[in-house]
Amino acid sequence: MPDIIQLLPDNIANQIAAGEVIQRPASAVKELLENAVDAGATEIRLIIQDAGKQLIQVIDNGKGMSETDARMCFERHATSKIRNIDDLFHIRTMGFRGEALASIAAVAQVVLKSRREIDEAGTYIEIENSTVIKQEPVASPVGTSIAMKNLFFNIPARRNFLKSNPAENRHIVDEFIRVALSFPELFFSLTSNGTEMFHLEKGTLKQRIVQLFGNSYNSKLVTVQEKTDYLNIHGFVGKPDTAKKTRGDQYFFVNNRFIRSPYLNHALMSAYQDLIAPDSFPLYVLFIDLDPAQVDINVHPTKQEIKFEDEKIVYAFVQAAVKHALAQFSITPTLEFDL
Ligand code: ADP
Ligand code: MG
Repeated sequence: MPDIIQLLPDNIANQIAAGEVIQRPASAVKELLENAVDAGATEIRLIIQDAGKQLIQVIDNGKGMSETDARMCFERHATSKIRNIDDLFHIRTMGFRGEALASIAAVAQVVLKSRREIDEAGTYIEIENSTVIKQEPVASPVGTSIAMKNLFFNIPARRNFLKSNPAENRHIVDEFIRVALSFPELFFSLTSNGTEMFHLEKGTLKQRIVQLFGNSYNSKLVTVQEKTDYLNIHGFVGKPDTAKKTRGDQYFFVNNRFIRSPYLNHALMSAYQDLIAPDSFPLYVLFIDLDPAQVDINVHPTKQEIKFEDEKIVYAFVQAAVKHALAQFSITPTLEFDL
């Protein structure tokens, strides 16, 4: 009997791996926006066409890439952000897996333009099916522009699974808002089919929340701010009278990374107990910062699920901090909380 096992060619392996990172246009949006943030950009523009199915482009004024790096960034496990396994536990950047651009290059037609400040000319690269089809020097402002066209053009089965444009647009806007909230000090814009939907000037977190969720929050946000040696929390929660009947604008960020956590949501809701009607939902935008060694963000490819070394401490802290912030609204006198 002949042997039957074969190594898959790189481009097929990349396509398979890409499925985990790039599930839909919004996943690519998240990865490209995070790369721009990691590159130190202060202005980040997102352009989409046809709900990202035709075009997703992110233009940043970050540090740009050398000619070699501009080619390297599309290789799998190619990253400038970690060098060894220890670094994984001290991550301060949004990315670290070195998989996003390789995945994007496997499932879309990609055009990159990038220039560093020290270089006279920038680099232009076109990629299809993980293969460079054109590379040449180009005049370019400092920073990087990455455009991906015709997502899943080479994987019709995936393309057919994409939802309607309104549904995919909603996912894109969700990702955009998450990144925009975690970096209010940066300018962001989102242009969809030629119309600018968001134009977010640099500002404070409070200004960003109002820009995104409406002027009505101007006088309706309560500051949350507490600090211990182990962790600190800051951000805003809505006054009890702003609670809505639909679960809406609720965000937890851990070390500036958006996370989903029913557990911490429970801590927060318990702090509102007796202040809002059951089945109503307050706005919250809360940032929890702690030693990166105390969280494992490497449990899921999209990094939205994380593991805390000590979950209970974080729960108790969130609950106490929010109760403390809301104490002014309680009718019954509250005890001081030990933080
Ligand atoms: P990761 O972000 O996990 O490192 P990516 O595949 O997203 O992996 O990116 C690979 C590398 O390409 C990054 O580590 C970075 O060095 C470089 N890179 C990607 N996007 C940009 C950008 N917008 N500006 C400058 N460098 C970038
Ligand atoms: Mg990345």
